[in-house]
Amino acid sequence: MRRSLLCVGLGASLFAVLPLLAQQPPAARGGFRGGTTVKPGEACPPGTTEIRPSNCMAPEGTVPSIVDYRPVSTLKAPVHMKPKAKFPAIDFHGHPGSLVGSAQSLAALEQSMDSLNLRMMIVAENVSGARIPQIMSLVNASPTMKNRVRVLAGINFNSVGPGWAAKAVAQLEADAAAGAVGVGEISKGLGLNYRKADGSRLKIDDPELDPVWAACARLKLPVFIHTADPQEFWQPVDNDNERWLELSLFPNRRYGGPGEPTFEQLMTERDNVFRKHRNTIFVAAHLGWHANDLGRLGKMMTEMPNVYGEIGAVLYDIGRQPRAARDFFVQFQDRLLFGKDSFQPAEYPYYWRVLETKDDYFDYYRDYHAFWKLYGLDLPDTVLKKVYYQNALKIMPAVPKAGFPQ
Ligand SMILES: [Zn+2]
Repeated sequence: MRRSLLCVGLGASLFAVLPLLAQQPPAARGGFRGGTTVKPGEACPPGTTEIRPSNCMAPEGTVPSIVDYRPVSTLKAPVHMKPKAKFPAIDFHGHPGSLVGSAQSLAALEQSMDSLNLRMMIVAENVSGARIPQIMSLVNASPTMKNRVRVLAGINFNSVGPGWAAKAVAQLEADAAAGAVGVGEISKGLGLNYRKADGSRLKIDDPELDPVWAACARLKLPVFIHTADPQEFWQPVDNDNERWLELSLFPNRRYGGPGEPTFEQLMTERDNVFRKHRNTIFVAAHLGWHANDLGRLGKMMTEMPNVYGEIGAVLYDIGRQPRAARDFFVQFQDRLLFGKDSFQPAEYPYYWRVLETKDDYFDYYRDYHAFWKLYGLDLPDTVLKKVYYQNALKIMPAVPKAGFPQ
């Protein structure tokens, strides 16, 4: 009895409201103005967004540009800022530039490093010859910095051809004797830009380079190599591209022009080198640009035990998948290295916060890299120590161990 009464009641009220809805002006119904209908599965027309299934509507008024749209989050969640790393860190991907140019600038670098608990800066600036002893004598002259800066040796890939390898290996030997603790940063120019003496593109897996990779194993120099760029840089710069803003700001980062190698071609050439030189340690910069596909990166690292990963400039990918990334860091804890790339002291604490805390939904430092928020991985101390310094010390036996906890 009560049930039927209820039905009658509901039915009656619905009938009473429906004609009213049809007659009322849009504003009185909470802004629902009706929209454009699209077929199921069809995208909304430009300038509109789906408001109900298959129904799209344009926002009222002027739509802000994505550059200006910066909504302020109302989320109240625990905040743990990390100005300093929990353990002394080695920046394996250091670009201190002119800060290793004079005693005065070196003192400024020391101050920045202290404020971040950055214990060691590895200069990864492709330097060779006289520049290495120059930097090392400057560093050695500082009682407080002599154990805190080391240099990687560069390789000159210009005009590879007959006789090139013997010269490159001799230079590498000289650079190692002058104090170089590794090789790098080998730039993305290898694969993308360098031409051989005969004018053809120098492929990353060109056999003429083999003696150099072999020498690195013999000299116990890990090879820090940056190959290609994020795969979106090869995609059309359209509304589906995650890096639309960056590619619009920096058009020279777009690839895929006629005659240019594809992203996958470069990955294949790189992996051929990794596979061929099993005794050489390679550190793939920027996690090999696979941080957006940890399954692929994990497969590659499992298949190639001589490959390590450096995490510079891909924090936006690590921090948007905190659970998968945490599992990945735990699984490959012996093969991951901290590195920052561009030397901006204000940006390092974002790395500490992502790696060390379990904070939720916080801003990244650079909008054009990521339209999303970051989350903390809450890595265990044992993993943090490996990523911050132990793995780097392990692959660069010549780096002084002073100042690092056991
Ligand atoms: Zn770099």
